[in-house]
Amino acid sequence: MSLQIQENRSLKPFNSFGLEAWAQHFAHITSPDDLGEAMEWYRGRNGTGLLILGGGSNILFRNPKHSWVLHNAIKGIELLHEDEEYVFVRVGAGERWHSWVQYCIGRNWAGLENLSLIPGSVGASPMQNIGAYGVEVEDLFWDLEAYQLSDGKIQVFTKSDCAFGYRDSVFKGKYRNQFFIMNVTFRLRKKPLFHTSYGAITQELEQMGVTELSIRAVSDAVIRIRQSKLPDPALIGNAGSFFKNPTLPIAAFQALQLQFPGIIGYPNAAASEVKLAAGWLIEQAGWKGYREGDAGCHDKQALVLVNYGNATGEAIYSLSEKILQSVQQKFGILLEREVNCY
Ligand code: FAD
Ligand code: NAP
Repeated sequence: MSLQIQENRSLKPFNSFGLEAWAQHFAHITSPDDLGEAMEWYRGRNGTGLLILGGGSNILFRNPKHSWVLHNAIKGIELLHEDEEYVFVRVGAGERWHSWVQYCIGRNWAGLENLSLIPGSVGASPMQNIGAYGVEVEDLFWDLEAYQLSDGKIQVFTKSDCAFGYRDSVFKGKYRNQFFIMNVTFRLRKKPLFHTSYGAITQELEQMGVTELSIRAVSDAVIRIRQSKLPDPALIGNAGSFFKNPTLPIAAFQALQLQFPGIIGYPNAAASEVKLAAGWLIEQAGWKGYREGDAGCHDKQALVLVNYGNATGEAIYSLSEKILQSVQQKFGILLEREVNCY
């Protein structure tokens, strides 16, 4: 057996909240063969409680003890084929997301620039259909290969198989913890289609003095905005947005608007539903900047819960519970956690 299985490994370096947690057994998975070996070992011991870990940037360890952790470290970027309009590229699930985005920008492959500086791995990107500034991974996704943990079969998932939704997919829903995503194939454009109307991208490009749009310039603008607004997990532990933005039928939104005239909402294309900014709801409920021991709600972005140093996962979870309850009391809206709690 060539796979190294470590015992009682600290998971602190593997989660962006910086929480202290341990894995009883831990392995870096660098290839499908490693995965096969790890699963054989696991099944041979009637293992339970297996956790797949990427960059740990969308995880809250509520429980500090985990029996089996497989850390995805499958690397590799392969150009499969290209035509006049597109390139098709297969990427190992353990590649760092932002490095992959920069790799594309360096080759003038367009599409991922609005998704610059999102932490984590390529393999986790389809899990919640990562999105930012009006672009979601499903827009560039072609297919993926995943290892079924129960029987070791490798399955290909096309875009429709993944059932992508808003920060959602089949891997977050009915197939949760059932498949290990090994690689993802993207279809990228040779000619860019810019999305600069979202958020502050246009203003940032103006401030940067950009006169000719390029995917590099859009990526740089997104990076600058993100660096100015979001807490850096290397300085303050966090997992980005803790809650999803909720959606409401248009009539329910209009009723709320009468009560709360400042409420922020973005109608969908059909104008049948409105997406609300969860950060605004939390702020209005009085939580922005709130701190309870080392667990807190960030003072610049209320959607982000933070660990100021030695908070436990349970303390952060319990703060999230209080926020959920108070937003429900004030607005009648039950927020949903975006972060995966284990
Ligand atoms: P992990 O946290 O390691 O895992 C997340 C979930 O995916 C877990 O349930 C895990 O079991 C599962 N998983 C991981 N890898 C695999 C695999 N190979 N196969 C099967 N399951 C797997 N998200 C956005 O959508 N948009 C943003 O703009 C954004 N900004 C962020 C900013 C900050 C500062 C931070 C800290 C987070 C942000 N996030 C954002 C959240 C997070 O970066 C993404 O969800 C990211 O895709 C998580 O990747 P990861 O490798 O760290 O996943
Ligand atoms: P922002 O620009 O201050 O906007 C606040 C919210 O309003 C966002 O959640 C965004 O929804 C929504 N919004 C803004 N402009 C919109 C438009 N033109 N159409 C529809 N919805 C609009 O948000 P931010 O906190 O600085 O984040 C910027 C982007 O990065 C957002 O897309 C956000 O999702 C993403 N981000 C995600 C995470 C995460 O962990 N998931 C963390 C940080 C940033 P959407 O969220 O649906 O885009």
